[in-house]
Amino acid sequence: MRQALALGLGALGIADHDTTAAVAPALAAARGTALEVVPGVEINTDYGTTEAHVLGYYIRPDAPQLEDRLAALRRGRLTRIETIVRRLDGLGLPVGLDRVLELAGTGSVGRPHVARALVERGYVRDTVEAFERFLAAGKPAYVERTRFTPAEAVALILAAGGVPVLAHPGPANDSLIDQLVGTGLAGIEVYHPDHSPEVVVHLLRLAARRDLLVTGGSDYHAPASSCGATIGSVTVSTVVVDQLRRLAGSIAGRASGEA
Ligand SMILES: [Zn+2]
Repeated sequence: MRQALALGLGALGIADHDTTAAVAPALAAARGTALEVVPGVEINTDYGTTEAHVLGYYIRPDAPQLEDRLAALRRGRLTRIETIVRRLDGLGLPVGLDRVLELAGTGSVGRPHVARALVERGYVRDTVEAFERFLAAGKPAYVERTRFTPAEAVALILAAGGVPVLAHPGPANDSLIDQLVGTGLAGIEVYHPDHSPEVVVHLLRLAARRDLLVTGGSDYHAPASSCGATIGSVTVSTVVVDQLRRLAGSIAGRASGEA
């Protein structure tokens, strides 16, 4: 909050991975200042063999089920990684659960972090080999996971009165966007540190075609994090904040009407 105020930002979205725990403290810290805090969340979901992240802006952090579902997701991921680490122990390849969690940092823990720990210990040359020999489906340390789909995240966000936005889609997620529009996706994160000017143009066209909101952000994680960029380095107009707030108002109205 102090950094955002020093930069003169008008609004700041708080969208942690799979938790809304920071929303209340952020709102409290910004109270009485000119900075508007947009309560949010970024939900990690499984899409094919990779992940897709779905942002929920203006979610009500106290919405029934939201934090319960997010907690179940977090527990599921952790249990899976614990099991993988135990299997590796059994194979004579101890990597240490603590080290794996450390490598995950503030992100959600997954197999790539186990792969990096295997490389660090010198058991494999690189993460590709880690997957091919141990971690890929059908290999000795593989553990199935409970999948949570992008469409399920969109539904969860809508039920919590939030505006669902696909985070940093990059150039190759057009079909996912097409699919999610039918389930209530309201916007795409066009401006992001990982997006080249060409990707931005591509996504702007797609958003116009699909009548989707255009959002953006720095994806700032933490001072020492390798994820995202510096706070305030990628910004959008406060018009976007107004659009999101208005849309959230009508979504919340619908969500409470259904309840
Ligand atoms: Zn993300």
